[in-house]
Amino acid sequence: NGLIAVLYDVTEQEKIDRERREFVANVSHELRTPLTTMRSYLEALSDGAWQDENIAPNFLSVAQDETERMIRLVNDLLQLSKMDSTEYRLMKDWVEFTEFFSNIIDRFEMSKEQNVSFKRAYSKKSRFMEIDEDKITQVLYNIISNALKYSPEGGTITYRLRERADMLEISISDQGIGIPKENVDKIFDRFYRVEKARSRRMGGTGLGLAIAKEMIKAHGGDIWAKSEEGKGTTIYFTLPLGKEQEDDWE
Ligand code: ADP
Repeated sequence: NGLIAVLYDVTEQEKIDRERREFVANVSHELRTPLTTMRSYLEALSDGAWQDENIAPNFLSVAQDETERMIRLVNDLLQLSKMDSTEYRLMKDWVEFTEFFSNIIDRFEMSKEQNVSFKRAYSKKSRFMEIDEDKITQVLYNIISNALKYSPEGGTITYRLRERADMLEISISDQGIGIPKENVDKIFDRFYRVEKARSRRMGGTGLGLAIAKEMIKAHGGDIWAKSEEGKGTTIYFTLPLGKEQEDDWE
């Protein structure tokens, strides 16, 4: 038994080491891409393009976009590293989840630029839960922005809430391009994207769902996806439901 435990620790440690090496390699690559793009555009500008008023604004805006991408990436990395640290703590408060959820959906509905409709397929009843509002807002933000990004023109995004034993299951379905079966579970891995070029074009860092997963895990919940290529994707996550209301007043 002791030997098995030692062997287990060794392979577990190897796995952690390998994942860490892969992560550093990924980070370096992701940072180098915007940097080399910026370098070549800035070089072209200093080589004379700055004098051409048709080209210069264009090149400067590319350099600006790449800077924004790097800032997003570094912010996401900082967030992940905070969550990896042992001091990571949630700032939980009691929240009426149905209204909290509806407010976030309203915000997206008002600001969306795409021709996509929203369907709220859940009852309006009160659901009290203890959550870190900022973190769950970010989880929803990451999931809903993906649903919008991958939705077709005229598509519908459906929001559901369902009680399952002592958990609340939240789901967000789109009618977008979907994800190949063999990749569905990988979308929660750091830097995993089904189509790297497409995600990059849309400003993605490949970290949004990895961050969401860490935040849901910290709340004691779970997150997963179901998807069919060409039909759409549903992202599900669960959060512990609050105990009976009476408990709060005792
Ligand atoms: P990104 O910054 O690339 O959006 P995410 O971690 O949010 O990174 O998502 C990882 C990948 O999962 C995306 O690049 C995309 O390939 C896939 N994905 C996520 N959500 C959806 C969705 N609703 N429909 C189709 N593909 C999705």
